[in-house]
Amino acid sequence: MMQGRDGNVILEVKNFNIDYIKKGKPPAHAVGNVSFKLHEGELLGVVGESGCGKTTLMLGITRLLPPAGRITHGKVLFKNTDWMKLSEPQMREVRWRDISFIFQGAMNALNPVKTVGDQIIEAMLLHLPISKVAAQERLIELLDMVGIGSNRKDNYPHQFSGGMRQRAMIAMALACMPSIVIADEPTTALDVMIQAQIIELLMQLRDKLQTAVMLVTHDLGVVAEMCDSVVVMYSGVVAEYANVDTIFNTPLHPYTQELLKAIPDLNRPNEKLRSIPGYPPQLDNLPKGCRFSPRCPKAIERCFLEQPETLEITPGHFTSCHLVEPK
Ligand code: SF4
Repeated sequence: MMQGRDGNVILEVKNFNIDYIKKGKPPAHAVGNVSFKLHEGELLGVVGESGCGKTTLMLGITRLLPPAGRITHGKVLFKNTDWMKLSEPQMREVRWRDISFIFQGAMNALNPVKTVGDQIIEAMLLHLPISKVAAQERLIELLDMVGIGSNRKDNYPHQFSGGMRQRAMIAMALACMPSIVIADEPTTALDVMIQAQIIELLMQLRDKLQTAVMLVTHDLGVVAEMCDSVVVMYSGVVAEYANVDTIFNTPLHPYTQELLKAIPDLNRPNEKLRSIPGYPPQLDNLPKGCRFSPRCPKAIERCFLEQPETLEITPGHFTSCHLVEPK
C-alpha cells in the first residue's frame, strides 16, 4: 500500500499568503509564502507555537477565513483544480466531500440540540448523492468504525464523554469519504489516556481508508508518533519541511533545533523543560530580515537585514535559513 510521501500528490499548496486587515492598522502578515505537498494517505504534521499561523493556514486552504482574513497570493491545487478560483457554492461542495475537519473541543462543533446520528446523516445527505436508507446504513458502519457503537446513534452530544464526542466528530469528518481530513489540535482538550486512544484511532483509520490527514498541533510527541512528514511553522512562514525522521534526526533550522530541545526527555524526568526565550514578532510589525532573528541563538548580521528564501537542501528537505545551503 502506498503511504506517506510515496503516494500521488493530492494537494499542493503553492506560495500561499494570508493577511489580516484591520481598519487603521498595518496588515498583519499571518501566512507568508507557504508551500508544501500532501500525498494520498499521508499524515502531515503542521507544528509551531500558538499564533504561528497553523490554523489560519488551514482556514485559508479551505477558504473559511474570518472576514478580516485575505488570501493575497497563492494556489491550492486539488486534483488539478485551484480551490482559490472556485466560486463559493463550488467551494461548499468541496468541503466535507473532498476535505473535512476535526476540530479541537468537539462540543463546540457538534450541534447540541440534534442527536449525533442525525447530524452525521444530515452531513451525508447534504454532500453526497445518497439515499436516506443508504445514509442510515453508512452511519451504523461509521459509528462502529470509530468505536462508538451504533446503539448510541440517538444520543445527544452532551450524553457523550469528551473522548466519545471527539470520536463522533471523526465519524462526521469521514462521513462523506473525503480524500483529506484536517485535524486541528484534535486531542488538546482530552486527558492523556483518551488522547492516546484518539491518536491510535486516527492512525488506524488512515491505514484503513487511505485518507490523507493534515494534523495541526503544538505537540511534537504526537507528531513523532503519528506523522510521515512535518511542516514546522514560525511566525507564519515555513521554517523547515521534511519527512518526520529527518526533522527529528537532522533538523537544520535553528527554530526546529530549539523546539526539539524544548521536548522533555523521558529518561531524565528531573530535567527542566526548556522554553525558547523571547516571543514571536508582531505580525503587523515584522523584523526586516528573518522572522526568527530576534530569538535565534545563531543569528548573524545578514539575518537582521535579509529574509532567507526557502530552499530544498536535499531532496524533500526544505528550510529557510541563511546558514544552510543546498548540498
Ligand atoms: Fe537564525 Fe539567521 Fe537562520 Fe534566521 S536566517 S534562523 S536568524 S541563523
